[in-house]
Amino acid sequence: MSKEQNLQCSFCGRKKPETDLLIAGIDAHICDKCIEQAHGIVEEEVLEAQTNDLSKDLILKKPMEIKGFLDEYIIGQTQTKKSMSVAVYNHYKRLLQTKDDDDVEIEKSNIVLVGETGTGKTLVARTIAKMLNVPFSIVDATVLTQAGYVGEDVESILTRLLQAADYDVTKAERGIVFIDEIDKIARKGDNPSITRDVSGEGVQQALLKLLEGTVVNVAPKGGRKHPDQKFIEVNTQDILFIAGGAFSGIDRIISKRLNMQAVGFGASLDEDKVDEENLLQYIIPSDLKSFGLIPEIIGRLPVLSYMNPLDAKTLRAILTEPKNSIIKQYEKLFAMDGIEFSMTEEAYKYIVDKAIEYKLGARGLRSLCEAILTDAMFELPSSDETKLIVTQEYAEAKLTKTALKKLKAVS
Ligand code: ADP
Repeated sequence: MSKEQNLQCSFCGRKKPETDLLIAGIDAHICDKCIEQAHGIVEEEVLEAQTNDLSKDLILKKPMEIKGFLDEYIIGQTQTKKSMSVAVYNHYKRLLQTKDDDDVEIEKSNIVLVGETGTGKTLVARTIAKMLNVPFSIVDATVLTQAGYVGEDVESILTRLLQAADYDVTKAERGIVFIDEIDKIARKGDNPSITRDVSGEGVQQALLKLLEGTVVNVAPKGGRKHPDQKFIEVNTQDILFIAGGAFSGIDRIISKRLNMQAVGFGASLDEDKVDEENLLQYIIPSDLKSFGLIPEIIGRLPVLSYMNPLDAKTLRAILTEPKNSIIKQYEKLFAMDGIEFSMTEEAYKYIVDKAIEYKLGARGLRSLCEAILTDAMFELPSSDETKLIVTQEYAEAKLTKTALKKLKAVS
């Protein structure tokens, strides 16, 4: 045998003639088969390291801890906070699940939140993302249209998420997307096919795949203004979608259903008296169907919860209780100029009353405070004042009728 033929792989011991290729190193040789095997090992290790990294980044908390975190930022809405905590916990458990052979695959727990505007739907979604330290983006369903029509394709939803993740695809693939105004893409009318429904059912159909999990080609800069950009592939399988909408008029659908049930089940309603003031608490998936969401979409948003309307007590609490409440923010701003800022209970009540009277909701609280405090924020930093106490009289004097009308107009 020639010297060449005597060479062997230093890993598996195969002789040169038994290999397709034998590569020489300084003091050793490696054959094609061992290279392939080693390559496989390297790939596995890298993948595992990446998964471990992601799991490390992902701060998984138990449902009660998640709710505890939400409590710091969101007043009331106990039911939604509970369902969200469970849904999010399960969603991230699903991400960490190992593929064992029991064939039990945990399905996605996308969420739909129903409640009037300004009741905190976006806030809940945003707070969850903050807690988990994952990318978060908000998209407005009203701008979406079926592919090929004027407006944005549903893929644009992922452009925003990619941007929020600084174009780190792996991070984006574990992010949270809040789809606002999902009710605006409800089917118009009962007959699905009479007219082309570009911004309704068509968009719902397009959303389906995204919600369930698919690989989408995403234009990183979005839109059609950059036709030469390279697409980025994003897998939506592990993205958590939270849809929100006011579904105005759905209370009538719920009421009708409850009344029909009452007839059907005799006098059972006597025991469970229906709270007519807040019908949303009785919402079930079929109400969304009657409203105009297609059953497939409802199926892919399996967690349904509702937001309670904000009453005076809640609005009062929103002013001061959340961790970064509006009033705490003003305290900080004034403190930076060495000014001790406070507001009397009567002044708080006055602000809440105005927010209710002018139907400004929780969002209006900030605009009201801004209108009351602008003069002080302008003047005090250049003065020797070290204290500002806002009384009801002070607030009344600053909040003229014109100011209130203006607030109403922009809300
Ligand atoms: P929605 O998405 O339902 O229209 P948002 O989440 O945008 O409402 O709420 C608007 C603002 O009102 C929030 O940024 C927050 O400051 C305040 N807000 C609403 N509901 C609550 C709540 N339950 N607790 C604390 N703040 C709230």
